[in-house]
Amino acid sequence: MPQFLAAFEVGQSKVEEERRQQICRFGRWMYRRGLVVACQGNLSVRLDEDRILLTPAGACKGRLAPEDLLITDLSGAVLSGAGEPSSETQMHLLFYRERPEVHAVCHAHPPTATGFAAAGRALDQPVLPEIVADLGTIPLAPYGTPGTWEVCAGLEPLVAEHDAILLESHGVVTCGKDLATAYYRMETVEQFAKILLTARTLGGPRLLSSREVEKLMAAKAGRWTARPQGSVELPLEADARAYAAPGARRERTPFSRHRAQRRNAR
Ligand SMILES: [Zn+2]
Repeated sequence: MPQFLAAFEVGQSKVEEERRQQICRFGRWMYRRGLVVACQGNLSVRLDEDRILLTPAGACKGRLAPEDLLITDLSGAVLSGAGEPSSETQMHLLFYRERPEVHAVCHAHPPTATGFAAAGRALDQPVLPEIVADLGTIPLAPYGTPGTWEVCAGLEPLVAEHDAILLESHGVVTCGKDLATAYYRMETVEQFAKILLTARTLGGPRLLSSREVEKLMAAKAGRWTARPQGSVELPLEADARAYAAPGARRERTPFSRHRAQRRNAR
């Protein structure tokens, strides 16, 4: 074998070994932080254009070993590994097929966020600026019988626009450019759900206004100017129709625009 090809294969297997260790590490974190119990949830990463490394069915994420993991193609056919693919594999593959920039998917049943999903409530209100800036809205995918095509059918319209999605009466799925990003988004969704629940018990939450959302997006995009006195003003271009009237149907204008900007930047 030519030397450069051998070096390429060694490089490839090193990357794969690192990805296997990563899945085991984040699986332990997911289990220890109570985002899943028993054998729930699953994690996956993209190895290359055609292959996905993922956790097998029936394995506790707190006790995974690198050799337990499976490699499948984008249709879900097992290419290597001894276990069975999870019934939720197709949910992961949907992200990889629809979004080339996604390199990791995390699925869990975090108790508070799943409580919102069980109550049929999305996490789509502009409450915390960091959530708005990173995740936009966290919509609710309609219920589908686990292990059937219905789960993907409910998710499909949402996958292109959202990095975190609640699954009605089920759990949460997040994605990212790498496994750390996907995993931290899962933690973030759960923490947001806890904060929102607390705010509701205290009579809130106070929603960010349309202008506050616009300013946040402008600041994130670096489109702000300093005034001599040290205050800042933003060159806002958009109108403030969304969130304008109390009780009005919320249009996702600021979020949608933000998502479009992020897509274009990828
Ligand atoms: Zn699940």
